[in-house]
Amino acid sequence: MNELLILVIALVAICLFVVIGERVRLKHWGKRPVPMFVPRHWRGILEEKMPMFLRLPLDLQEELLERVLMFVEDKDFEACGGLDRVTEEMQVVIAGYAQVLQLNKSRQFYARLRSILVYPDTFAVDDDDVGLEDDLRIGESWGTGSVVLSWRAVENIGRDEDELNGKNVAIHEFAHQIDQEFSDADGAPILDAGVSYREWAKVLRSNFEDLQKAIANGEKNDLDEYGAEDAAEFFSVVTEAFYEDSVGLRERRPELYSVLCRFYKMDPAQWGR
Ligand SMILES: [Zn+2]
Repeated sequence: MNELLILVIALVAICLFVVIGERVRLKHWGKRPVPMFVPRHWRGILEEKMPMFLRLPLDLQEELLERVLMFVEDKDFEACGGLDRVTEEMQVVIAGYAQVLQLNKSRQFYARLRSILVYPDTFAVDDDDVGLEDDLRIGESWGTGSVVLSWRAVENIGRDEDELNGKNVAIHEFAHQIDQEFSDADGAPILDAGVSYREWAKVLRSNFEDLQKAIANGEKNDLDEYGAEDAAEFFSVVTEAFYEDSVGLRERRPELYSVLCRFYKMDPAQWGR
């Protein structure tokens, strides 16, 4: 009888251990079981495939690896357009760019984001309903909780010499997600104590109008012209420049750079080159 009792107690204890352990893990990491530690080879993937990673100070590299693990486990990655599967390398690199924007911040930016759709190359967007021909894209961000990316375009970030300095399609689309967190994309993300809405509106609007004026006058300008489309595109374009052309943006548009430093709690012009 005593032996039976001990056996029952032991079984109950094991069940409790498993259930409580799983609860703690799920609460901490999101909806699926995850590796407890960042796999060692992920650092090698980021060093090789994400040029920006090597510019980060060591402590931010470590923080990024932890955040990449959380992102990969929390979000769904879907292969599209004939892609066999979204490989581990693809997931780690895409998560790397998403989580660069999240570094140094306690508030989670991507609560609404559920899935990342990955195409092997450019993808067509059906514009038939507005009478336009299919448009080829390398990235999109949907307010319904998805980001769409061309893997070829992500792989080329920082490597394509024909591209204007300061471009990064992954950062562009994840910046839209931040903008779309609680509303439609309008270039006005949720701000915290670092920047007032009044300052944000004033500085972004004046820089946006500068860009529009420069384009209208046929003048050379320092930002991707796509940013002149509307306030949402401007926010994504200046976020790209903030991370990919930090020193240039700080020199040319110090007021805008300062506002972005306080918003992203980061000063990327101080990182390595
Ligand atoms: Zn955009």
